[in-house]
Amino acid sequence: MKLILLGPPGSGKGTQARMLAEKYSVPGISTGDILRQAIEENSDLGKRAQSCVEAGELVDDETVVGLIKERIKEPDCANGFILDGFPRTIVQAEKLNATLDAMAQKIDFVVDLVVDEEDLLIRLSGRGTCRDCGAMFHEKTRAPKKTGVCDNCGGELYQRQDDNEETVLKRLVVYREETAPLKEFYRKQGNLQTARGFGAVEEVFARICALIG
Ligand code: AMP
Repeated sequence: MKLILLGPPGSGKGTQARMLAEKYSVPGISTGDILRQAIEENSDLGKRAQSCVEAGELVDDETVVGLIKERIKEPDCANGFILDGFPRTIVQAEKLNATLDAMAQKIDFVVDLVVDEEDLLIRLSGRGTCRDCGAMFHEKTRAPKKTGVCDNCGGELYQRQDDNEETVLKRLVVYREETAPLKEFYRKQGNLQTARGFGAVEEVFARICALIG
């Protein structure tokens, strides 16, 4: 199972990627999570990526492609992976194709999660993310059982630095300009599927599972 989740920030990619990874017993790979961890650790990668991530801009293609190339060659990816937040540009998608070609592999499914733009702002502004496992909750639509505590692992929920209104608006512009064209790219490639991203998390999950079988 090699699957890419497309969709704007706040469409639920991260949550669905986690659920799909568990169902199909493959790793969920989020470039955003990898970059946030690097920033937390203050590694060289983190230092290079920090200003872009905090401003809601994209980290350069070479850096993120390099990360993914290494990651998908690891043994736990032998049966596939769920990509969340990568690719985000046409160049990244082309490089991913070239890497998979060289490994005699290909993407099975690309699922685009569709959510109205005004809902995205609401979703992102009340979002709490777990420091430990990255799970996401929302004060109104998916409240954790205990305020500020992750239901999955008991970790602390925090508001991501880039989930403030100004940066969210920037991320949506970047999505429209850089990432949305990927829909056409994968439509032409013949593996684009579209799922409505609204409703309960379980409903969206069921829609995706129905698409991919
Ligand atoms: P995400 O957690 O997917 O919303 O990503 C958070 C931030 O990490 C983005 O706003 C970008 O700054 C950076 N980022 C994540 N994935 C990529 C990517 N594939 N290409 C460039 N930048 C990325």
